[in-house]
Amino acid sequence: MLIAGNWKMHTSRMEALALAEASARLAAEVGPAVEVTLCPPFVWLEAVGGALAGSAATLGAQNVHAEDRGAFTGEVAGPMLAELGCAYVIVGHSERRQLFGETDAIVAAKLRQVAHCGMVPILCVGETLEERDGGQAEAVVLRQLDAALDGVDLSDAATLVVAYEPVWAIGTGRTATPEQAQAMHRTIRDRLAAQVGGAGAQVRVLYGGSVKPGNAVELFGQPDIDGGLIGGAALDAGDFRAIAEAGASVASR
Ligand code: PEP
Repeated sequence: MLIAGNWKMHTSRMEALALAEASARLAAEVGPAVEVTLCPPFVWLEAVGGALAGSAATLGAQNVHAEDRGAFTGEVAGPMLAELGCAYVIVGHSERRQLFGETDAIVAAKLRQVAHCGMVPILCVGETLEERDGGQAEAVVLRQLDAALDGVDLSDAATLVVAYEPVWAIGTGRTATPEQAQAMHRTIRDRLAAQVGGAGAQVRVLYGGSVKPGNAVELFGQPDIDGGLIGGAALDAGDFRAIAEAGASVASR
């Protein structure tokens, strides 16, 4: 079970440190069955990494450039994130796709770069409400998955995480039903198994989209949901704790 907090463009340095210290304690309490990872804004990565040092909680970044270095003003390179101790990098978040024009090809290049730098991509896929209402949800998610993983040969399932995040559920308070989420997770897992070989079936597939303490147990209890990518609720230490505890209670069943 992986519980990842995506802080987006939120938190002051003080708030980031307080959340990180709470997560360091939380990781010890929930035990090894639940990995807690924090994805703060770039500027707080080093401070958050320091606060997590010696704890079981891990560090992730929200974005990366596809090149190792170069004249790319304002961008952050994979080797920099690896040097800061990032274990994970989110790629293909719907906000990056929708607001920053990231295409399937850009997402694929970033995914390769994260792996090349020895970190684990958290690949986000998900359909818009229009696409779901038009009966296109599966086709869209599989297109995003196929494009990002084209040519990827995965021998170790731990080197990839996929997050199914229906765009209509992100930050809206509207969550996919456990049945809707489970159905898409099964589809994703089947495709992973077919596409990247045997290890694909073991890849962790997270659900994201308005996960809250009140719905986490039911979502995480689905057979093909291996944790959550948590946005808004990750900014509240109590809510994030309750969500990670939900993960631990499901993991101990
Ligand atoms: C996200 O941004 O990845 C997300 C799931 O956000 P929220 O939990 O706020 O819907």
